[in-house]
Amino acid sequence: MSKLTVTNHNRNLTGLTYVYPVLSRRAGGLSIGINFNTNNACNWRCIYCQVPELKNGAAPEIDLDLLASELRFFLNSVLHGNFYDEMEVDAAQRMIKDIAIAGNGEPTSLKDFDLAVNLIGSIANEFGIFPQSHFVLITNGSLIHRSSVQKGLKIISEYDGEIWFKMDSATPEGRKKFNHSAQSNESVLKNLQIASELCTTKIQICLVDYRQQGLSQSEKTGFINFLKQVRSHTTIENITIYTLARPSQQPEAVDLQIMPFDIMDDLAHAIRLLHFNVVVTQ
Ligand code: SF4
Repeated sequence: MSKLTVTNHNRNLTGLTYVYPVLSRRAGGLSIGINFNTNNACNWRCIYCQVPELKNGAAPEIDLDLLASELRFFLNSVLHGNFYDEMEVDAAQRMIKDIAIAGNGEPTSLKDFDLAVNLIGSIANEFGIFPQSHFVLITNGSLIHRSSVQKGLKIISEYDGEIWFKMDSATPEGRKKFNHSAQSNESVLKNLQIASELCTTKIQICLVDYRQQGLSQSEKTGFINFLKQVRSHTTIENITIYTLARPSQQPEAVDLQIMPFDIMDDLAHAIRLLHFNVVVTQ
């Protein structure tokens, strides 16, 4: 059994500050995670969030020299060292599927987001891992109006990367309940437009069964109505629907269960009628 498994997302596994390995269920190989939010701070508080001791706030100032040396060290160890052997990773999983800017909070809250993205892209390029591996940003999309974030998205696009834009509800009520976010639909649509103009963008919908309510009719209708607008105002084509993979670290954890597959599949079917490609993962 590998020490590095699809359920072991311990960001301290390598003892590095910004770089951590994940065997990604979704990516099907090694994902090199980059965590800017070393203080476990986010501007949202999703009820399913797995970040322990999550607090409200932004990523702290980044040490770009440390980020560069850690990423070079880690890539060397994976490509030329004994990382896979030490972690006892199965032969079939021994490939770098992506470099994913994700982590313990909202990565785009980093003040020097564009500088950090540029550095990561150029080091990955130096090691020749693109285009076989992908450059991915996992974001809640709420700070895309910032110019440093937009510059970063352009850089990701230059490496043929992708933005995975979180959208767990398409109603203000749902966003408040599931994400503790006060964003309006207008603001989300605007940010989706900006994101998709700058870089290939995929929507990620995490559905959780909160207090055994499943997916309410108003949430389902909200998705359909909002996604119709997304279809006509953006170039976005791909949507992934998924559910809880690991236990929430939030107080609501006791009231959360995975969303039954048939409910996710039913929503996927309705969204496909709007001419999106929809994948459902569990
Ligand atoms: S946006 Fe991500 S990091 Fe922030 S609370 Fe939600 S799941 Fe956690």
